[in-house]
Amino acid sequence: MAHAAVGDDVYGEDPSVNALEAEAAERLGKETAVFFPSGTQSNLCAILCHCRRGDEMLVGTSYHTFGSEAGGASALGGVAYSPLPVREDGSIDVADVTSGIRVNDMHRARTRLLCLENTTDGRAVPLSKLHAVAEVARNHGLKIHLDGARLFNACIALHHDVKDFTALADTVSVCLSKGLGAPSGTVLATDEARRNDILRIRKMLGGGMRQIGIIAAAGLFALQSNISRLSDDHRRAELLAQALLDIAQEGDRLEVSQATNMVYVTPHPADHAKLHAHLAARGILIGNSQPAMRIVTHLGIADSDIAATADAFRSYFESD
Ligand SMILES: *Cc1c(COP(=O)(O)O)cnc(C)c1O
Repeated sequence: MAHAAVGDDVYGEDPSVNALEAEAAERLGKETAVFFPSGTQSNLCAILCHCRRGDEMLVGTSYHTFGSEAGGASALGGVAYSPLPVREDGSIDVADVTSGIRVNDMHRARTRLLCLENTTDGRAVPLSKLHAVAEVARNHGLKIHLDGARLFNACIALHHDVKDFTALADTVSVCLSKGLGAPSGTVLATDEARRNDILRIRKMLGGGMRQIGIIAAAGLFALQSNISRLSDDHRRAELLAQALLDIAQEGDRLEVSQATNMVYVTPHPADHAKLHAHLAARGILIGNSQPAMRIVTHLGIADSDIAATADAFRSYFESD
């Protein structure tokens, strides 16, 4: 990062950003890619690129674009969300997409976009499920955006080439931090014909950055170096889940589930605050979400951290 070549990316003159965008486009099998400061901004930009004010987008109720982006599509784009149920495997049913699409009725908002997500809450959604809903959406003239913030985790888990997923979407966002380990940034990949639109909207949203090659250089390194190692994160999440299940079986006091690099731990409500504090006192800091605590493995987590975390859980249940 310290030695990255930089230029003014608003003018397309930052060599490090250009190299990152070229690499991302190539890997994702799209004609072009655009660098963004955050995944949230890239998703909003994609939505604004596909929809006009008064249009509607279909999106899973638990998906990030619906619930975790501060309502940006509606607040800033005048786009209505039409949230659809998300199944156990993270997918949306074809029947729900079909009935969600409003056609040829002047009383209705125009449904323009289907927004998908993979992985979603750690679950790798099977390619066939995405294909099925994408086909229905396409047949009705909808565009498809794939929020692939953690898409490479899905590819590793399902043993698919990333291009199998990106091919079904018009726009795909992929996070360079999260599992890939860069300090920040997201790339939005799409067709060349959309590039100028996306650059204009990114500028509108305040995402045109100047000498940002210092960050892009880390993103390029992440793409080149940190994809295949995601399987280590998955293995460590499995190890931790197994250790916690062993602890749980002894006392029957924890529910544990795991998918890709995420482990969800649900203690009894009476244990929640005490357990959280017990772990924190041992240096295991977990977001205090309820009822499930979410633990995510990443390139900063080693086998010894998994053992230490399991030990901290065990000591809570043994001391009590
Ligand atoms: C993290 C995440 C985002 C948003 O990324 P930010 O860079 O934090 O704005 C979007 N979608 C999913 C699925 C994510 O996990």
